[in-house]
Amino acid sequence: MLRRFFRGRPSRRSGRTRSFARLFARYCRIPLLIAAIAAFTEVYLHRRHWAVHQPEHELDEPFYKSCQEPATHLPRENAALVMLARNSELIKALRTVHSIEKHFNQWFHYPIVFLNDEPWSDEFINAMNATVSGEARFEIIPKSEWLFPDWMDTKAAKESIAKQGRDGILYGGLETYHHMCRFYSGKFYTLEALKQYKWYWRIEPDVDFYCSVTYDPFLEMAKHDKLYGFTISLPEEPRTCPSLFREIADWKEDHDIPTTELWKATVSASWVPWPFRSALSWFGHRDRKGDSWSLCHYWSNFEIANLEFFRGKEYQDLFEHLEKTGGFYNERWGDAAVHSLALAMLLEPQRVHHFEDFGYRHDWFFQCPANAPGGQLLESKTLGTGTDRSFSPERPGGVGCRCECDGAKTRNYASYCLNKLKQPNTTKRISTIGWFRSWFK
Ligand code: GDP
Ligand code: MN
Repeated sequence: MLRRFFRGRPSRRSGRTRSFARLFARYCRIPLLIAAIAAFTEVYLHRRHWAVHQPEHELDEPFYKSCQEPATHLPRENAALVMLARNSELIKALRTVHSIEKHFNQWFHYPIVFLNDEPWSDEFINAMNATVSGEARFEIIPKSEWLFPDWMDTKAAKESIAKQGRDGILYGGLETYHHMCRFYSGKFYTLEALKQYKWYWRIEPDVDFYCSVTYDPFLEMAKHDKLYGFTISLPEEPRTCPSLFREIADWKEDHDIPTTELWKATVSASWVPWPFRSALSWFGHRDRKGDSWSLCHYWSNFEIANLEFFRGKEYQDLFEHLEKTGGFYNERWGDAAVHSLALAMLLEPQRVHHFEDFGYRHDWFFQCPANAPGGQLLESKTLGTGTDRSFSPERPGGVGCRCECDGAKTRNYASYCLNKLKQPNTTKRISTIGWFRSWFK
């Protein structure tokens, strides 16, 4: 067969066609074959360059894999739970606060800071004061931190927002949503109201926590040298941020920021060989070399993170740069995407923690760990020894504490985004079939 390839297939056709075929066989086949092998090798090497280094041992285990007696005698970290909400979201906000108080804060009594761009209603304040077990603070975000930056052509920005709405881009037509994303991307961290804290746990209206958190996550984050914690990861809707990855990748290159394993895990290396790959960089969503973003990011409605990192120069300089491009309004950059790409660029992977022992739901995504065998502390007076055994059965390999959800069921993007983003920290992989089952069970 190979011989026939080099010599050319015998042809029954005659005349000019045959002589062209002969010429082609004589002069083009070998160069073409060499080009194909070169292209294949080049792509192989390129993808190998982007392959994530697999760690020898687990770098990000759960802090605990079963219930603990809450160590309430230990000093608290300098931390707060933080919720941005509107007065109109009172019922949903109460649902979240009830849930986090029941599953965590009844033992630790961290303050909850409520943020709003408008004055709080008495109804909201009274209802929350009656629900929290620690201090509740009600803060108003200054207009300068919430609305369009003062140098921006507001009329043009509003037109762009209207166009995004007409184009059907997710939340693209909602001006307040743009303000919210910009705020959470950068201004949140430098807010006067949060200046005194080192750590925050972001919560949102309409969230459920399903498992008991019987240890202090702030304390563990500090102890294990973590800067950012998440529960759910998922792919971003690409039409909201066509130029975001390029902006950050350019920033990385222009500032000679070395490539971390987390950045490698975030990028989707192209299958197209050089030099065609470089030509792909004409598409604005790719980097200068033609590679793109996997779109995987940490879902930011849950975050437990270090405020000092986000207040620091490295992050704030990047935010200021992104702000100046106008992308928070000319596109609809989400704070989750901005945080995740910045973390991937700036952090070693071990500094990010997956709270896989937390049961968490927002919208229709949820994470539900199975309960840890023999780890439910059934006799604990603090956790409750009563007849209330409404939590799910224990399962082998479970890491949850008294989770009330079905541990076999979860709606996280496990086999794509979780696997991808956790690659540098773990040797374990979630199988696609297992993921599929857990989603549709
Ligand atoms: P999604 O989770 O991306 O669907 O966005 P949400 O609509 O849940 O908004 C995210 C967070 O920002 C929630 O905590 C909302 O309460 C809050 N939020 C969104 N827009 C506004 C706003 O205009 N004013 C206030 N005060 N909060 C807002
Ligand atoms: Mn939300």
